Amino acid sequence: TNPSSARVFSCFDRSLSSAAASGSHLIRATLFPGDGIGPEIAESVKQVFKAADVPIEWEEHYVGQEVDPRTQSFLTWESLESVRRNKVGLKGPMATPIGKGHRSLNLTLRKELNLYANVRPCYSLPGYKTRYDDVNLITIRENTEGEYSGLEHQVVRGVVESLKIITRQASLRVAEYAFHYAKTHGRDRVSAIHKANIMQKTDGLFLKCCREVAEKYPEIKYEEVVIDNCCMMLVKNPALFDVLVMPNLYGDIISDLCAGLIGGLGLTPSCNIGEGGIALAEAVHGSAPDIAGKNLANPTALMLSAVTMLRHLELHDKADRIQNAILNTIAEGKYRTADLGGSSSTTDFTKAIIDHL
Ligand code: NAD
Repeated sequence: TNPSSARVFSCFDRSLSSAAASGSHLIRATLFPGDGIGPEIAESVKQVFKAADVPIEWEEHYVGQEVDPRTQSFLTWESLESVRRNKVGLKGPMATPIGKGHRSLNLTLRKELNLYANVRPCYSLPGYKTRYDDVNLITIRENTEGEYSGLEHQVVRGVVESLKIITRQASLRVAEYAFHYAKTHGRDRVSAIHKANIMQKTDGLFLKCCREVAEKYPEIKYEEVVIDNCCMMLVKNPALFDVLVMPNLYGDIISDLCAGLIGGLGLTPSCNIGEGGIALAEAVHGSAPDIAGKNLANPTALMLSAVTMLRHLELHDKADRIQNAILNTIAEGKYRTADLGGSSSTTDFTKAIIDHL
C-alpha cells in the first residue's frame, strides 16, 4: 500500500472492542508502542511494570506510520475505542512525514479523543549535572487548536495559507486546567506565554481567557510573558518559572527547550488530559529514527510518562517505587544511556532500573 493514499482514520470492526471486560482485578490500559524507538522503550516500560507488580493489563494496538492492511488506514476505530473505554493509556512516538503525506496521527488522536491539555513536567534530576540544578517547571500546552488545527491550503501558486484557530472554549478549558493544577500541586504561579503584541486577535483572546480564570484563583500569582522573552528567561534562569500555560505551537517548542535544560529529550515525560477523565501519557520526544532499532534509546521519558499514568490511577505507591528506581539508577551513574553520556544499552539500563526497584 502507498501510505500517502491511505486514510488516517477508519471505522473498522466495532465488534472487536466488545471483548473489553476482562473480569480480572487488573486495570486495563491501552498501549500504542508507536514508531522508531517506540517499541524498544515500550518494552522497557512493560518489563519494569511487571517487575514492580503493577496491576495493569496492557491492551496493545499498533498506531503509526504503517498502514493497517485490513482497513488501509493509519488509525483504526478499535484503537481509539480502546482509549475511550480504558480511559488510561500510554502512547509511544508516532512518525509524521515532513511537508507532505498523511496528517499527523498525534493531531488526529488529540482531536478524536479531545485531549485538550498536554502536561509536561520538567525537573532537574538529582545527581545528573547540567548547567542548572534548580529546574522545576510544568508546561501546560493547549493541545487541540492554534497553529495545529491542520487547516492549510494553497491560495494561488506560490502562496499558501495556514490558519491559526483560537477559541474561547478551548482557551478557558486549558487555563482552568493550569490554575487547578497549580492549586492542587502546591504551585504558586501561572505564567501565560503569548505573542499577543503581533497575534493580537488569537493570542489576545487566549490571554483574555487566562485573565478571566486567574480572577477565580486569587491565591495563585498570574503573569503574562511574551514568548521570545520567555525563551531568554528560561535559558538564563529557569527557576523564574513555575507553571506555564500557552497555545499549542509555543508549548511544543518551549517543552523541547525545557528538556534541553535538564539533559535532553530522553528524560521528559508528558500526559495528555482529555474530556471524560481520559489520560493518555506519552514522552515529549519523537520516534528518533537516527537511533531506532539500535538498543540505544533512553526509556526514561516514556517510563516517567507511564508513572504519570499510575498517578492518574492513584497508584501512588507503585508510581513512587518506579520513579525512585529510575532516578536512583541515573543518580548512581553506573548505567546511563548514550544521550546522558553513558554507554549502556536500553536493555542494560532497563535491567538496572529493575535492580533498583
Ligand atoms: P525526536 O524527538 O524523535 O529526536 C530528536 C533528537 O533527540 C534525536 O537526535 C534523537 O535521537 C534524540 N532522542 C529523542 N528521544 C530520545 C530518547 N528517548 N533517547 C535518546 N535520544 C533521544 O525528533 P525528530 O527527529 O524531529 O522527529 C522524528 C519523528 O518523530 C518525526 O516523524 C516527528 O514528526 C515525530 N515526532 C513525534 C512526536 C510524538 O509522537 N508525540 C513528537 C515529536 C516528533
